[in-house]
Amino acid sequence: MYIYVQAQDGTPLMPTARAGKVRRMLRDGRAVIATHTPFTIRLTYDTTHHTQSVSLGVDAGTTHIGLSTTTDRKELFAAEIDLRTDIIDNLSTRREARRTRRSKRSIRYRAPRFLNRRTSKRAGLLAPSVQQKVHSHVKAVQDICRLLPVTSVTVEVAQFDTQLLKNPGIVGKQYQQGPQLGFWNVREYVLFRDNHECQHCHGKSKDRILNVHHLESRKTGGDSPDNLVTLCETCHKAYHRGELKLKLKRNSQSLRDAAFMSIMRWKVYNELKQALGVPVHLTYGYLTKYTRIGHTLEKSHAVDARCISGNADARPAGELFRFKQLRRHNRKVMKSNMLKGGHWKHNQAPREIKGFRRYDVVVYKNIQCFINSLRTRGYFSIKTFDGKLISNDNSYKSLGLVRHSGRSLFHKERGLKTRFPALSKDGSTLA
Ligand SMILES: [Zn+2]
Ligand SMILES: [Zn+2]
Repeated sequence: MYIYVQAQDGTPLMPTARAGKVRRMLRDGRAVIATHTPFTIRLTYDTTHHTQSVSLGVDAGTTHIGLSTTTDRKELFAAEIDLRTDIIDNLSTRREARRTRRSKRSIRYRAPRFLNRRTSKRAGLLAPSVQQKVHSHVKAVQDICRLLPVTSVTVEVAQFDTQLLKNPGIVGKQYQQGPQLGFWNVREYVLFRDNHECQHCHGKSKDRILNVHHLESRKTGGDSPDNLVTLCETCHKAYHRGELKLKLKRNSQSLRDAAFMSIMRWKVYNELKQALGVPVHLTYGYLTKYTRIGHTLEKSHAVDARCISGNADARPAGELFRFKQLRRHNRKVMKSNMLKGGHWKHNQAPREIKGFRRYDVVVYKNIQCFINSLRTRGYFSIKTFDGKLISNDNSYKSLGLVRHSGRSLFHKERGLKTRFPALSKDGSTLA
C-alpha cells in the first residue's frame, strides 16, 4: 500500500509505504495532501530529486487498458481502465437524429453544413471512436507520469511481429534470448490467421485450449506458418493417437489485415513518443505471453502490463486501481419523434438533483457505492463497485456524498478480479 509523494514543485518522487511517517509529516506541516485517490502528499520543504529507474508497462486494448509501474524489485502502481464502448452507438444515434432534419418539410429543418465534416479518409485521421481510445491511453500514461517518476514506458503494439515473420533472419533483441521465441511469434500469427479456431472441427469439440500443430515434422518442415495449423487440444491429441485424419481448408489472412488490426495500438505508441519526455519502447504480445507463462502468472490486464514493463518478477503492489471511463455530458439531441402534446422530449436528464450527480460516490449504511441513475423525485438507483444493485429506489436522504463524479469512476481493490457493472448508456434511464 503505497502513498505517493510529490516534491515541493509538484514533480513526482518515489512513493513510500511508511504510513506512520506520513501521518507525522502531515501533522507537523512538512507535507500536505495533494490528492486523496490515489493518496498523494506534497512536501512543503525542498528535497533532492533522487529517484530510481521506474518502468511503466501499458497493455493497450480497445476495451481495457492495463497499467503497471515497476522498479526491478517492486510494483509501485497497478491499474486497469475500462474504456468507453458506447461511442459508435452514440454517433449513429446522433446521425439518425440529424438525418430527420434533412427534409425541407420538417419543422426542424436545418441546412447541411459542409465545412464541419470530419472524415476518416483524410490522411492520418482515425475514426472518432478510435481516436477517443488513443487519447484515453495517452491521458492515462500522462496521469501516471505525474504520480510517479517514470523513466521509461513500454507499449505492446501488436500480438506478433510481422517484420520478424517476413524475415526470420532478423537479428533483434528477442533473438538473443533464443530461437524458441521466434516460434512463439509464428505461433501467435498462426492463431490469428486461423481466427483462433480449430481448423479440423471448427469449434465443434467445444475444447477451448488451442495447440499449434506441425503438419510436417518440425525437423523437415520447420517453423514456417505454412507448416503450422491451429488445432484444439481434443483434435490434436486424437490425431497424434492416430484416431483421426485431418480435414483442413487453407485459411489465408494476409499480413496486411494483421497490421490493420493493431492500428490503434501503433497510434498509441506514436502519440506517446511525441507527448512524453521519457523514452517509449515497443513490445509484442507473444513476448508478453512468453514472459507471463514462463513466470507462471495469472492472466489479467494488470499482470500483462507488469510483464510488459520488463519486471515480471517485481513484487505485486497488492492493490489495483480500477477505473471506469464515464460519459461526461449527454449532449442535447432531441428524440427523433415528437411527444403526444406536440413538444420535443429532451434526451437529457438534469445534471444535479438534490445535490447529487450521476456516478457520484456515496455512502449508504456504511457501504461505499455509486449512483447509477438519478430520478427527479430524489430516489436513486445505487450500486456497489462490483455491480451489485443495492437499491433501485433509494431516497437521497439516506445517502452521504463522498465525492462528485469526474472523468472516471474509480475504486481500489485489495483482492482483485472484480469487474465493473454495465452502466446504463442513456443519462436519463436505467439499463
Ligand atoms: Zn478440434
Ligand atoms: Zn501435433
